[in-house]
Amino acid sequence: MEWVKEKMLVGGTWRKGVQSLAVYDPESGKKIAEVPAATKDDVQTAVFSAKNGAAINKKLPIHERSRILQDTAAYINTHFEVFVHTIISESSKTIKEARKEVHRCIETLRLSAEESKRLQGETIPFSQIPGHENRVGYVCRDPIGVVAAITPFNDPLNLVAHKIGPAIAAGNSVIVKPSTLTPLSTIRLAEAFLHAGLPAEILSVITGKGSEICDVLVQHEDVRFVSFTGGYETGRSILEKAGVKKTAMELGSNSPTIILADSNMEEAVAATVAGAFGVAGQNCISVQRIYVIDSIYSEFIKQYTKETKKLKIGSKIDENTDIGPMISEKEASRVENWILEAESAGAELCCGGKRVGAFLEPTVLTNVPDCALISKEEVFGPVVIINPVSSFNQAIELANDSRFGLQAGLFTSSIDLAFQAIERLDFGAVMINDSSDVRIDSMPFGGVKHSGIGREGVRYSIEAMTERKVVAFRLN
Ligand code: NAD
Repeated sequence: MEWVKEKMLVGGTWRKGVQSLAVYDPESGKKIAEVPAATKDDVQTAVFSAKNGAAINKKLPIHERSRILQDTAAYINTHFEVFVHTIISESSKTIKEARKEVHRCIETLRLSAEESKRLQGETIPFSQIPGHENRVGYVCRDPIGVVAAITPFNDPLNLVAHKIGPAIAAGNSVIVKPSTLTPLSTIRLAEAFLHAGLPAEILSVITGKGSEICDVLVQHEDVRFVSFTGGYETGRSILEKAGVKKTAMELGSNSPTIILADSNMEEAVAATVAGAFGVAGQNCISVQRIYVIDSIYSEFIKQYTKETKKLKIGSKIDENTDIGPMISEKEASRVENWILEAESAGAELCCGGKRVGAFLEPTVLTNVPDCALISKEEVFGPVVIINPVSSFNQAIELANDSRFGLQAGLFTSSIDLAFQAIERLDFGAVMINDSSDVRIDSMPFGGVKHSGIGREGVRYSIEAMTERKVVAFRLN
């Protein structure tokens, strides 16, 4: 048997399932592991235990929460290669991309440890209202309770850390439902937390199909916060079911980057090529739409195509590989069909477009009509569209003409145009002289419109995972 049989962590114990789900390496198509297919009963047990876990963590002194988070980060650092190879085996990431993700996960947990010490409140000046002169009061922050975390396949470790780290720092318990495609990194992460001494009831990892078990999880009265990262349709269905509880929705996008005539072209090309094709385009802030002022359009396309052709597609484990496979052959085939649809609607193919199994060449399309799927929807694959614009105003209008609004980029050397763009672009972040694909783990991260609700990023997640409590004393 070449594959491994994994267990899930339910209420402090590692459990087998009655039934299993296979995990495949998207590159070879080979089965690499089996994880339990959790049942609704497993979810009920996890929530029951998490209720105790929330009570335990609420009472833990902050220095102890912080120590557990620091020690978990240290454990991951010591076992760095195990985490790297887990990511490579189950996801589409190359070895270079997997290393970056493990570094970021360590950073996310260290930030969580630091931020746990800043759960501060404020005083309330009651005497501003006649009749309240003899009251003094303050606001403190209580943990919200049981957190349900549902995560996607594309960052199988760090996006999970972005939910567990802040949940523990804030004094909560957390139940993670990782992507069915990439559950192994979460299992390794849970081992790290237990090794660091996290009381077992505080964390559960339930593996299984979201469509079968998540209704019970998100509808449960004892779950007080649902933190979801994934596609728009899944997020909307969770929102419809969750009822009266707090939610955070980190959803998709089709992010634009604008290139004005006064840009540094070399930098703009380098940043937008990297931003479009990293993780084979399977990144929520991937550059999907590029709008270039028409005076530099032909030169930009020439340089962009030249740089794209230099990218090396290959095995994830090869140090020289820039682009690995997509998460599955099915997804690669979907993206291939979107390319064909755009071409039949009049788009021109500059390079790429060929698919072998789950591998799809980095693809550049130009003059793509607005009606094409690839112009309107999130492609989540290694495809970028480059269209000409006649003015700054037109570029802003086209960039905003989307149901999504996660992040946008703009290249210009004009400070005036940069500030105009910042004001007018309807996105969660605007990156000047950069592509849309910029994130550090401490910044508030999230979008507007169909890109989501709320902001992730350690401090902001902790904020969302606590409830403000007002305290007032009446003095004689
Ligand atoms: P997905 O929506 O298919 O799955 C996400 C999670 O939801 C998985 O754990 C899945 O098992 C679960 N799920 C599936 N059906 C469910 C249901 N009916 N009820 C509850 N849960 C269910 O997303 P994906 O394909 O894994 O990830 C890609 C998407 O995630 C893209 O749209 C991408 O933009 C988005 N994403 C967003 C961010 C962000 O921070 N904004 C970050 C990464 C990825």
